Amino acid sequence: MDLKELYRDVILDHNKRPRNFGTLAVPPAHEARGANPLCGDTLRVWVQLDGDRVTDVKFEGKGCAISVASASLMTEAAIGQTRADVQAQFERIHTVFTHHDAPLDPALGKLAALAGVRDYPARVKCASLAWHTLNAALAAADTDSPLSNPPTIKTE
Ligand code: ZN
Repeated sequence: MDLKELYRDVILDHNKRPRNFGTLAVPPAHEARGANPLCGDTLRVWVQLDGDRVTDVKFEGKGCAISVASASLMTEAAIGQTRADVQAQFERIHTVFTHHDAPLDPALGKLAALAGVRDYPARVKCASLAWHTLNAALAAADTDSPLSNPPTIKTE
């Protein structure tokens, strides 16, 4: 099995059996919503923090296989990490999405499976949606008032 097949299998697997699919109670969790109108992907992401650590992430959403698999992989990459580590991972994956020839940092781990989308600019928005929505949920945690509507981001 070559690397491309392996990556394709990771994405198919996470699309078929998304990890951490579900909701968290707000509060104490924080929610953000994301939409990629070009493809019709919609996501809701919930994040729970204990101080500076992300203790839980869940998501619900509908969309293409890439958007769902990316959200599933994002939750696995974020849970248990500090916010600084999540930010660093966001920057690594963002570099992959936006730089066609960037080498794959070994610290990406399973997220390297998403690297194939950079050859398809329209799909980059599908793959990055979960990460932008997670960032919005983390930002909401800093400014939260429980009665406010969750922030909504659009990848346009
Ligand atoms: Zn999509």
